[in-house]
Amino acid sequence: MVYPYVMKLALLCFCAIAAAAQTLTPVKQAALDEVGTLEPTIREISTSLWKLSETALRERKSSELLARLLEREGFRVERGVSGMPTAFIATYGSGKPIIGILAEYDALPGVGNEAVPKKAPRADGVSSGHGCGHNLFAAGSVGAAIAILRAMESQELPGTLRLYGTPAEETVVGKVYLAKYGVFDDLDACLEWHPSDETKVDNQTGRALNNFEVEFFGQAAHASADPWNGRSALDAVEMMDYGVNMMREHVKPTTRIHYVIPNGGDAPNVVPEYAKVWYYVRDVDRPSVEKWYAWIQKIAAGAAMATRTDYKVFLITGVHEYNLNRPLQEALQKNLSFVGAPHFTDTEQVFGRKLQEFLKIKQIGFRDEVKPLADKPGPVEGGSTDVAEVSYITPTAGFNVTTAAADVPWHSWATTACHGTSAGEKGATVAAKVLALTGIDLFTDAALREQAEAFFEKKTGGKPYECPIPRDQQPPPPKQ
Ligand SMILES: [Zn+2]
Repeated sequence: MVYPYVMKLALLCFCAIAAAAQTLTPVKQAALDEVGTLEPTIREISTSLWKLSETALRERKSSELLARLLEREGFRVERGVSGMPTAFIATYGSGKPIIGILAEYDALPGVGNEAVPKKAPRADGVSSGHGCGHNLFAAGSVGAAIAILRAMESQELPGTLRLYGTPAEETVVGKVYLAKYGVFDDLDACLEWHPSDETKVDNQTGRALNNFEVEFFGQAAHASADPWNGRSALDAVEMMDYGVNMMREHVKPTTRIHYVIPNGGDAPNVVPEYAKVWYYVRDVDRPSVEKWYAWIQKIAAGAAMATRTDYKVFLITGVHEYNLNRPLQEALQKNLSFVGAPHFTDTEQVFGRKLQEFLKIKQIGFRDEVKPLADKPGPVEGGSTDVAEVSYITPTAGFNVTTAAADVPWHSWATTACHGTSAGEKGATVAAKVLALTGIDLFTDAALREQAEAFFEKKTGGKPYECPIPRDQQPPPPKQ
């Protein structure tokens, strides 16, 4: 939103009041100062990861770059955690409390772009891109972790800090398998953030999800000479999809079901003996997803029966909806208001407006205000996140910082462009500051930890976390 000058002044005054509302302790001040010192490092990480743009489970160079940097700073780094070569955990200190910070670094296929305000594929031929801004996510989180470590050292603060290098968020895989492996079990609390086109604390739960494939196996035959000898796996896929599309009339308005057909046969004159359909089913909570998933599996069985084919269902991954933690949300809001949203230069705002002009949307540049935290969670919107799994294991909260021009399509070349600019990097620096301040709060404020834990216990009813995927299932290989 663009504010008239007078309103902007009023906002600045409001920010000054909010800032005055919190007097920083020496240890918080030390952590904040460290983020200031680390700004060039945060920019460097952002740019390096943006250039690499490695997709899910292929983030070898990106994860190694982060792991090495953390090691140089004094973290002990465990690589290849839970069977994923690009997952790592960086640990500093010992004993309680144990505080976690999440980092993501995978890019998206097909959304590569130069950091210019128009659609322009990369000159170096890299077709993937950071359309979700995970280059900034990693830079902000790693920057915060280093700042906290330095403050813990200089201020002799006890406890354990963990930076989780979580790959493959875009395929909703990384944290699910890490959670199954138990790496979050002993945490007292966990923090995360995400790039966005606005600056606010997360206050809606997103959707629970099952991501699965259904394969059908038939019999090949000449489609004209002897079709009676054939059994079409593609027929089974079509019949299954038809069944699911009939089912849509009888699900809740909150339900989302989407599919693609990665394999549908090779040539029209061969009855396809193999076909595969790939589904996502989502809803506002896990029991609903499980209910629809059971129904869809029956439809698959029906399609196989009708087409006299065999079938196999493979649940690739699944997540819960986000388990919000109010005390942590409030702690984040306090620090986010203190730090304030990124201040964008005129040149950066011109970039944003040019990009919006190219996209034929309202030319309002980057949003530069902090949204207030509403009393109650907002209506469910958007997709799903594997952070949700962590939120059922330990008190967890997150926030968004403006890194992209207002209202540009997310997961697109346009967001990739923004995330390669100084404007995006400013978002990562703001995030590092908020994470560092809230991280220190969690180390030093036992009452906050207790409130977060009590809220968590009340919401989960003491029920232990149940991973949506089978216990012995290994992480899937990277997508081709
Ligand atoms: Zn993302």
